[in-house]
Amino acid sequence: MWMSFRKLMLLLSALLFITFFAAHNVSGEPLLLENKPSYDLAGYMETLSDPTNQLTVQQAADQKDWTKTIRGQVPNLGFTRAAIWLRFSLASQTDTSRKLYVSFEYPVTHSVTFYTKDRHGIFHEEHTGSGIPASANIVPDRHFVFPLTINPGETKMVYLRVQSAARMTLPVRVLSDQALFRKAIRDYTVYGALFGLLAMVMLYFVAVGSFLYKGTPIWLALYSVFFGLHTAIRGGFVRLVMPDTLLGINNPLQLVVIAGLFFTGAKFFRLFLSLKSHSITLDRIMTFFQYLSLTFILLPLFPDPIIIGVSLVLIVINPLFSISLAFYFWHKGVSNAGLFAVGWIVAHFVAVYDFFRINGLIPYQPLGEWPIPFSLFIALLFLSIALIRQNTVYQRMAETDPLTLLANRRKFDDAFKEEWNRCYRMGSPLSLIMVDVDHFKEYNDKFGHKAGDLCLCRIANILENHTRRTGDLAARYGGEEFMLLLPNMDSARAFTLAETIRYSVGQADKGQTNRSTSEITISLGIATIIPTKGGKPENLILEADKAMYEAKRTGRNRTVASTPVEI
Ligand code: GH3
Ligand code: MG
Ligand code: MG
Repeated sequence: MWMSFRKLMLLLSALLFITFFAAHNVSGEPLLLENKPSYDLAGYMETLSDPTNQLTVQQAADQKDWTKTIRGQVPNLGFTRAAIWLRFSLASQTDTSRKLYVSFEYPVTHSVTFYTKDRHGIFHEEHTGSGIPASANIVPDRHFVFPLTINPGETKMVYLRVQSAARMTLPVRVLSDQALFRKAIRDYTVYGALFGLLAMVMLYFVAVGSFLYKGTPIWLALYSVFFGLHTAIRGGFVRLVMPDTLLGINNPLQLVVIAGLFFTGAKFFRLFLSLKSHSITLDRIMTFFQYLSLTFILLPLFPDPIIIGVSLVLIVINPLFSISLAFYFWHKGVSNAGLFAVGWIVAHFVAVYDFFRINGLIPYQPLGEWPIPFSLFIALLFLSIALIRQNTVYQRMAETDPLTLLANRRKFDDAFKEEWNRCYRMGSPLSLIMVDVDHFKEYNDKFGHKAGDLCLCRIANILENHTRRTGDLAARYGGEEFMLLLPNMDSARAFTLAETIRYSVGQADKGQTNRSTSEITISLGIATIIPTKGGKPENLILEADKAMYEAKRTGRNRTVASTPVEI
């Protein structure tokens, strides 16, 4: 049930109140380290912006204008090219020394430097970042992790210098080695499962696309590749597994991947919903977004306002536009648009949430990064089901006669070939019954075309009900001609079946209209063969046709079998 507007407003006010309260719970005091496995440093940190990018750690330490951060909120500074300094102190409350890890948990940050003072007051630093191999760090982790030992009674001041060409979001934790291990195992398991699923989706749709010669599955496969790569880069996995020699491309790769993600997404969107057939204008707008996403690759070369503007259009306006369109098509009842819309909306809603989160417009915690992999899972699940169902529907449409819903001639031809070969291998008889409605032109003239259509549907229904064995097929072969494919059926049994059908048709139509003038009859021609090597299937159709014309010639409302094959 939808939440009422009043309740929603109440909830929002409560959230605002909590945020307001938290905002006044400012702290810069040391974090007291007891025996807990993990501590969030939000609220224990102070930040300092260095637009010159020149300050040394000592100069930074001497500055007076450090800003305290808010407890419970990860500091978010949005887009800035300034170097940001962070500091916090950790005070031991235990009587044994503890080995701890400071973890900076935003793996797409370009440069992170960690400073601690030793006993003699000398700073030691460890430098890392998204372009620096994880193997070069003391702790190779998907996050930037620095070891730290705290002795009993000791208070340690830690400095971090952070720089990024993207967003400046500063989540920092202190973890015990147990906690670091456990977190790594959990994260690698969850993400591993996700990437496995993704690989499956990709392979499946590449196979489907190349089998059907269709673009839509290929675009979904590409979309899932970029989606997965994006998640892997954002999660710090690419840096972790990439050979050191290739790490230089980690940062530019990020932009290529984002461009690819939006490009393939928009293309898939347009194809899946056949946007062009609904509205040229909407399709043009989506095409504009599709090509605009390519500018992401060169974005860092442009001045800041352009970067912010293009990001805003692509990461906020574009998803909001396509989300509305997906809703609209869902509402309009376009086939499979509902499933598609759920997948699309989940993925893009989370993308917008993430954009707001890393730009400091909404709190970074408590959900953290988890909505991203989770949305990936949900989105791909729904988009895949939508596409599979769409393809199944297309497949069925291509084989079905729209009026009678029987198999069409194309389906008949395929099935006939298949059954011919099967009967050849088994040495069993194969019968065809060709059915033609008698004086159907007159019927149409008398009762109208619409009544004629209904009459064809009734006959189709009877044919369908008499072809229930595996391999049997009733097809609409022409305007008012039908064909029954009957593998493993000899001439005599086919004759009995034909007579049953002929009787049913006469009876059904009588009951339907209650007018003797409207009595409809059919003529049937049977041909049977035990397929032989080099035998021509087309000839069996000609035989059935001949037999049917013989039935017409000799008075209609009859069944004629061509010379039966000895069995
Ligand atoms: P005969 O007994 O010799 O088969 O006579 P007939 O009138 O059935 O044969 P003919 O081939 O001359 O006419 C077939 C008619 O079937 C002509 C056409 O209007 C009608 N017909 C074909 N397809 C449809 C259809 O989809 N709906 C309707 N209502 N009529 C159709
Ligand atoms: Mg005809
Ligand atoms: Mg006819």
